[in-house]
Amino acid sequence: MKNIKKPKLIIFTGPSGVGKGTVEKELFNNPSLKLKLSVSVTTRQPREGEIDGIHYYFVSQDTFDACLADNKLIEYSLHFDNYYGTLYSEIDRIIAQGKIPFLEIETNGATQVIDYYKKHKKVDEIVSIFLMPPSFSELEKRIIRRNTEPEEVIKKRLAKAKQEVGQANLFQYIVISDTVPQTVAEIEKIIKNEFSDLLNQKEEQNEGRKA
Ligand code: 5GP
Repeated sequence: MKNIKKPKLIIFTGPSGVGKGTVEKELFNNPSLKLKLSVSVTTRQPREGEIDGIHYYFVSQDTFDACLADNKLIEYSLHFDNYYGTLYSEIDRIIAQGKIPFLEIETNGATQVIDYYKKHKKVDEIVSIFLMPPSFSELEKRIIRRNTEPEEVIKKRLAKAKQEVGQANLFQYIVISDTVPQTVAEIEKIIKNEFSDLLNQKEEQNEGRKA
C-alpha cells in the first residue's frame, strides 16, 4: 500500500517583527483550517488583554524550571530575558481533538522541534513554515515602527532577527511576507495542500492566541 504522508502539526516561525502575529490572527479567522494554538509556557509578564491559558500559560521561573526538570517541554528558548517553551501535552491534546496544533514560536525553538521529530523518525509529521521579511531593511523598518523600546533593545532585536533569517533554509516552506493578504493566501494554500485529509472532515472552530 502507498505510504501516504500525514502531517500532524505546523511550526510557524520567523524573525521578531516580521508580522507572525498579524498573519496568525488572519489564519485563525478561517475555521475551515482547523488550527488550534499550542499554548506555550512563558516566564514573561502578561500584557494588557492577555489571558492565562489562552495566550500563554504565564508561570514563574521556578515553575518553568520544574517543567524542564520533569521533561514536559519539547523545546524552549530564552528570548529577550524571558523563557518560552512548548509543552508535549499541548500537541497531544490538540491532535486528540482532531485539530492541527499551531506552534507560533521563535526560530531556535522551532529547530529544536524539528530535531526532535527527526530523531524520532517522524519528521513527516511536521509542516514547517518560515516567514521571511521582503528585505532586511523592511524588517528594520517594521521593528522600529512597532517598538517603543530604547535603541539598545531595537539593536538586539535586529541582531537576533539576522541570526533567525540565517536559519530559514532549515524550514520546509519560506514565505515572503510582502503584504498580509498575499502571505495569508500562500500559507492557507500550504495548509490546505498538506492537511487535505484532515480538512476534508467536518469543520470546527479555530482557537488562536491573538485577541
Ligand atoms: P511575545 O512575547 O511577543 O508573545 O513572543 C515573543 C517571541 O516568542 C515570538 O517570536 C514568539 O513566536 C515566541 N514564542 C512564543 N511561544 C514560544 C515557545 O513556546 N517557544 C519558543 N521557542 N518561542 C516562543
